[in-house]
Amino acid sequence: VSTFVAVEARCPRCGHTFSAEAATGLHVSRMPEIRARILAGTFHRFDCPACDQSVVLHDRTFVYTDFDRWHWITCYPRGGLRYRSALHAQAEEAFDQVLRREGPAFVREEWAPRFVRRVVYGLAALREKLLVLEAGLDDRALERFKWMLVRDVPLSPFHPDVDLLFERVDGDGLVFVHVGLPGPEGLRVGRELRVARAGFDALEAGVGPEDWRSLMLPDLPLPEAGAGVDPPMPTPVGR
Ligand SMILES: [Zn+2]
Repeated sequence: VSTFVAVEARCPRCGHTFSAEAATGLHVSRMPEIRARILAGTFHRFDCPACDQSVVLHDRTFVYTDFDRWHWITCYPRGGLRYRSALHAQAEEAFDQVLRREGPAFVREEWAPRFVRRVVYGLAALREKLLVLEAGLDDRALERFKWMLVRDVPLSPFHPDVDLLFERVDGDGLVFVHVGLPGPEGLRVGRELRVARAGFDALEAGVGPEDWRSLMLPDLPLPEAGAGVDPPMPTPVGR
């Protein structure tokens, strides 16, 4: 059963406070519309009754469970990342208590091992995790791949407030949204970045791409002779 509590929300624009419903536990197998709202970015989002400004409850902790897909995802506020070891242990403890200690035998023996357990920090990270798992990608390999991209591609400073979020698979590419540091008015601009999937596949298989620049260039067949295009091949040695 999904559980909600009434919380006081404060509008960042006009300062009005109003009562809103915040989740403490989500059973999306029973409420698939909640999953749809997370994916649409409308979950924990309310309109201020005074000025219509969209207000998002960012700083809530809740457990997201999906017994159809075997997902057990603990969502902490974005700032929780700096306490990740402690929070991870807390999430594991909650899982152990519910599924390994207090549950009946079939829950402990058959259900518990099937769950993909993850900890995420913030609603955007939860949405991304659902997209990545749905796309059948190894989410941890994808995080390593993102780390490599942020480090090596001149997008913006290598900074914990920069986001690089998986959005979708697009043919032989992976599409991410890169969100840079906040600008002068606190606005963060996101833009899409499409990267060849081959680099990720190589990383997931345990080998890196032969040349990281290949992540940004298409892999084309050699042009045929006489097609009016010189293949960009090096001149043979000794010619
Ligand atoms: Zn308002």
